[in-house]
Amino acid sequence: MTPSNPPPTADGAANRAKQPSAPLTKQAQTSLDESLTALYQQAIRVAEQAYAPYSGFRVGAALLLTNGEVITGTNVENVSYGLTICAERSALVQAVSRFGPEIRIEAVAVANLNNAPSPPCGACRQVLAEFILPDAPVIFPAEGGVRFMHFNELLPMGFEMKLK
Ligand code: ZN
Repeated sequence: MTPSNPPPTADGAANRAKQPSAPLTKQAQTSLDESLTALYQQAIRVAEQAYAPYSGFRVGAALLLTNGEVITGTNVENVSYGLTICAERSALVQAVSRFGPEIRIEAVAVANLNNAPSPPCGACRQVLAEFILPDAPVIFPAEGGVRFMHFNELLPMGFEMKLK
């Protein structure tokens, strides 16, 4: 987090969380656009730290939490390929480690240094679902440019544990 780019207050997050389906006012939309742009820049910056000696695919993720903090992460590859962790999950485990199990994510940005599409993979969507507000905006590189989707559009039927 850079001091010159303070994240939005937790107040705004709480208000959005209460009314997940309410349309954003023009002012709120503008402020959201600005915070998402800042979040995307942070995802790009952290991608420089990626450990990707096998694929060369350098990804960064930035999570805006409802407490106003931004937590970033990169992909960390392993010679045993299946042990690789994505940037999104890397950021998430750091967020929980720093702030505990009550964290909630109100926005996600994913970026890469390869000029390639990189929506969150299925595993990351399921893991994010545990902590993210259903209508949280997610931005990521797609064919033709950066794409914006709400989380519940990205993962409409995530797994839930509902035993009877
Ligand atoms: Zn992933």
